[in-house]
Amino acid sequence: MEGPADPEHDPTAAYALEPDYVDGLTARLVATTGRTVALMSPLDGAPLAHVPQSSADDVAEAFTRARRAQAVWSRTPLDERSAMLLRLHDLVLDRQDEICDLIVLESGKARKHAYDEVLHIALTARYYARTAHRHLDTERKMGVVPGLTRVEVNHVPKGVVGIISPWNYPFTMALCDGIPALLAGNAVVTKPDAQTMLTALLGARLLAEAGFPQDLWQVVAGPGRELGTPIIERADYICFTGSTATGKLIAAQCAERLIGCSLELGGKNPLLVLRDADLERAAEGAVRASFSNAGQLCVSMERMFVADQVYDRFVERFVARTQAMTLGATLDWDNDMGSLISQDQLDTVVAHVEDAVAKGARVLVGGKARPDLGPFFFEPTILEGVTPDMTCFGTETFGPVVSLYRFHDEADAVARANDGDYGLNASIYSQDGARAREIARHVKCGTVNVNEAFGATFASIDSPMGGMRESGMGRRQGSEGIHRYTESQSVATQRLIRFGPMLGMSDETYAKVMTANLRLMKKLGRA
Ligand code: NAD
Repeated sequence: MEGPADPEHDPTAAYALEPDYVDGLTARLVATTGRTVALMSPLDGAPLAHVPQSSADDVAEAFTRARRAQAVWSRTPLDERSAMLLRLHDLVLDRQDEICDLIVLESGKARKHAYDEVLHIALTARYYARTAHRHLDTERKMGVVPGLTRVEVNHVPKGVVGIISPWNYPFTMALCDGIPALLAGNAVVTKPDAQTMLTALLGARLLAEAGFPQDLWQVVAGPGRELGTPIIERADYICFTGSTATGKLIAAQCAERLIGCSLELGGKNPLLVLRDADLERAAEGAVRASFSNAGQLCVSMERMFVADQVYDRFVERFVARTQAMTLGATLDWDNDMGSLISQDQLDTVVAHVEDAVAKGARVLVGGKARPDLGPFFFEPTILEGVTPDMTCFGTETFGPVVSLYRFHDEADAVARANDGDYGLNASIYSQDGARAREIARHVKCGTVNVNEAFGATFASIDSPMGGMRESGMGRRQGSEGIHRYTESQSVATQRLIRFGPMLGMSDETYAKVMTANLRLMKKLGRA
């Protein structure tokens, strides 16, 4: 990164960013209030930069610019749009050091978890670039009169998409939903979370460097409760990622305007270890499942159901691997887990663990805040004996805390995994892949990973990703992830015959002819 630190700029802030670098990023904001908000690095709790704030009028201006840009963009050939995505792919890989530095500074996560974001955006950009025609080309459909009714379906852009994104994977969440929106011919107005605004702005800069017209991607900064409504009032579609509570507010506002929305929300995800699981593999996966990004991951596992026959051997391995994890607040690759992002997150995690322990849960490993490492650190924590009266039994912690449960019967394990209101992601470890896939059909989650924690589905961009029940609506990735940003428009061209009686035929005769026709079509096996 160009000048990550400038100790002279603010002697109390070891990680304060070069003002020129920050200005270069924030220049991309539509923000005229004159107000700024201080960004703090969770690595040390000290100031990182100041970010200008947007008003409702700025949101209106962002939409005006985006709409103007979209009118031109929707006529840009698909191959040109795809070529820009392939340039973005290369840029993201070339600039990974800068991207990872900024993600770590803003979020406090371990560098290897920041790199996951680089991977995900490169995969997403390449996937949509290479499959653009498959998703967006005009499709031929069956006409009602074979040979005489020619039917085509166009996938036309919605217009301007509003994207409201969270802080936990700030680079991925800022870009991954916008990439298919742009490719489909839309413009985007985005409001990233305030805590990770610079990473989102770096994403915007990379899009411009890849060739996307500047005004096509607008960024506004400010509290969601102030800017959310002005965005929803103007957007043609809303893509939201965040908490279930906020998602419900957004869905209600979209319903008022009859615009579509996709909602990627919370989870209380289950991991099942069946009696025939490879236990080393399951324990290694369990660490990544629960402690990636310190558990601040929508698809991470907070509940593990382990077959009685292998429970003790699995727990021994999982605990040993967790105890061996290295924690730290640095920009290098040395840490297995970094910090939580904020005092709010730390308070929630502490409250969940204290509540569970006070009501009788046992801490097998972890369980404590680590202010010696950084202001918001909390140890990776494994709990046993968690019961329904404890908050962490069914409420999302969104932190490095997982509860272990034994099961005797697989049907019972699936029923317990399906308990609660969420349905985002699940994982099943078994050496019998076919059986695990059969069990997966009964798990009420939008994604199920067999012998992997979450990466197998999340990184397979051709497959849809999203939640059932209170974990969301709609899907990102795959064809659903791009078609949500388009309207299907059917165009039917009728040749020779017209609809209705011809050549002086009476309505009654016409009805008889048509009835005979329908019977014939069925006999011929036509759809
Ligand atoms: P949040 O809902 O508070 O905030 C998310 C975004 O919504 C932020 O940009 C915020 O400014 C904005 N926002 C807040 N109130 C708003 C309002 N009234 N109107 C419009 N926008 C508003 O969520 P959070 O607590 O910051 O994020 C963590 C949650 O996000 C967790 O529950 C997690 O599971 C979920 N999440 C889900 C996914 C997924 O893909 N399913 C991914 C990441 C995070």
